[in-house]
Amino acid sequence: MAPPRTYRCEAIILSYTPLGEADLLVTMFTRDQGKVRAVGKGARRSTSKLVGHLEPLTLMRMSMAHGRSMDIISQAEVVQSFSKLKEDLTGITKGLYLAELVDGFGAEDSANPELYRLMIETLLAIETDPESDMPLRFFEFHLLQVSGLMPELYHCVECRAELEPDAHRFSPNVGGTLCLDCNPEDAHLRLLSLRALKVLRLLDRSDIAAACKLSLDDSLAAELKSLLSTTVSYWLGKEIRSNSFLERLNNESLPEVYI
Ligand SMILES: [Zn+2]
Repeated sequence: MAPPRTYRCEAIILSYTPLGEADLLVTMFTRDQGKVRAVGKGARRSTSKLVGHLEPLTLMRMSMAHGRSMDIISQAEVVQSFSKLKEDLTGITKGLYLAELVDGFGAEDSANPELYRLMIETLLAIETDPESDMPLRFFEFHLLQVSGLMPELYHCVECRAELEPDAHRFSPNVGGTLCLDCNPEDAHLRLLSLRALKVLRLLDRSDIAAACKLSLDDSLAAELKSLLSTTVSYWLGKEIRSNSFLERLNNESLPEVYI
């Protein structure tokens, strides 16, 4: 039997680019099929029923039609617009950082419902408190976990010895924590304080609401941010663009155009 020509799906829009005169090429992360690229026919025309519906960081219910090379979006209905998050430049930038990571880690035609849920709950947490960085740390840690790259936090990845309560080292590319005696040749080693290890273990055990209640001092927050974004960038194989923008946003006063 021929597969059905149309199907429905629920998806978060990650990004779009103009295509031809009036179309949009939309990248979305669906609950049931992972990453999908699809065409919004005529979506840039002011008369289109799709106009304004395909904004990044919007949770949609879609009707889709199988196309010859790419699927076509025939109908789109907003489920959750995250409008409060989009009113805030820091909130938008953090949201786009998530979208870039999901685009990088999500695979086409491969469902990852845990990653889908993780993105939605993190967007809601950013919307609740756009200034807090804990939703991003929670997301980065669990992104590694749901992508099968869960960092080891309890044993040395080399000799398997149980870690003593002490300072340790961490390596993104050999899979997590190392004792002070092991020096694998190809490991990108960095120091890991006992405090940071404890927070990582807490992120491992907590839900996002509990993680967002954590209050870290500046040096601990900086250590975790550096460790997790380095690990995520290592696996992604490139520097993450929106993360650099977020960095600049934190370090510079905003130009007037953004206010
Ligand atoms: Zn060891």
